[in-house]
Amino acid sequence: MWAACALAVLVVGVVVVAAVTIPWHRPPAPRADQLAALGHLPKDQVSRARAFHAELRPGTYASLVIGLAGALALGLTPLGARLVAAIGRPFGDNWIARAVLGGLVVVLIVDVVTLPFAAWRHTVVVKYGISTQTWGAWALDLLKSYAVGAVIGGLALLGFYSVVRLAPRWWWAFGAVGAFLLVVLLSFVLPVLVEPIFNKFTPMADGPLRTELLALAERDGVPVRDVLVADASRRTTAVNAYVSGFGPTRRIVVYDTMLSQATSDEVVSVTAHELGHAKDNDVLTGTLLGGLGAAAAVIALYLLGSWSALLRAAGVDAIGVPEATALLVAVVTLAGLVSGPASAFVTRRIEARADAHALALTGDAATFEDMQRRLGTVNLSDPDPPTWEHVMFASHPSTVERMAAARAYARGER
Ligand SMILES: [Zn+2]
Repeated sequence: MWAACALAVLVVGVVVVAAVTIPWHRPPAPRADQLAALGHLPKDQVSRARAFHAELRPGTYASLVIGLAGALALGLTPLGARLVAAIGRPFGDNWIARAVLGGLVVVLIVDVVTLPFAAWRHTVVVKYGISTQTWGAWALDLLKSYAVGAVIGGLALLGFYSVVRLAPRWWWAFGAVGAFLLVVLLSFVLPVLVEPIFNKFTPMADGPLRTELLALAERDGVPVRDVLVADASRRTTAVNAYVSGFGPTRRIVVYDTMLSQATSDEVVSVTAHELGHAKDNDVLTGTLLGGLGAAAAVIALYLLGSWSALLRAAGVDAIGVPEATALLVAVVTLAGLVSGPASAFVTRRIEARADAHALALTGDAATFEDMQRRLGTVNLSDPDPPTWEHVMFASHPSTVERMAAARAYARGER
């Protein structure tokens, strides 16, 4: 009863925060401008990008299907529960072993079944020159991300099942608060602790570009502490920039690939987009929505625990036991797939707002359009992807939508 009320309050909270913070009314620029922009792109480049995505597509979908099938096979049959129990046995059925080791093995198996597709994807991105990684470097990155996931996941599992044991009737409440705090913590901690595991960051050398970027941030009223260059070229030719951290820790990060491939004006244009995210507190909004969503998910899982047919299928007698981890993973995987298009829709709107911010801040639509064309070219994005794929997966407006936004802005329409 209390749990259902709390869930209702959280859902209302998510709806209110989303309604207030997300720029819903920002439809893409006119299709005529998009088609004009598409016609402006070199034909061979468009067909190369489309060939690249056509080659990736079968593996991407197969990976989604196999990953889901693996999660469901472990979670909706007694297989996962037996696996967790078996892992606990050499440790005298110790609950910590079942909760942490058992849980991590379940997650690892769901991940490992998709590994062949990840490897195959690597061959495609190398073939098209997007990735510059050798197999060794690729495997090392993979191991690092498994290690990071194991540490975070292990702590989360330990915390979750400790709370269930300490408060068997109210764990959903503590769990919800804990999930919210974990999302907030990760949002603050990941950029500082985890990013350096994968990349080296060095302050951008003094010079006109650095001065201009800092002046831009100043003019925008978004103070930044530093401009850093990430050594992205060790793994990719793709270009990017982002702003991370809050308040006094906020910094602009530019990929070294961008410095070698884009003009200074284009770097300024991308940075202006990133400053838009900072100014509109998009990371904070994302963290808040993610935290409330995670809290709601914990309570929803608790309520799911009264569905006896589901528990019977999973071969467990309660949802708050380590043996049910596979069931939790299956439900979360399914929920992630179902909610994917909704969150992609939200991020596309937020990205479009940051684009509008960049255009307004720089007042330079021509450079913005050049930059979008370069981003699309270098990153081999499909400039005008199939509609349903865009709706299902795209986190950003398409290249032609972004170029069209610049054209509409130049005409004074936005
Ligand atoms: Zn963005």
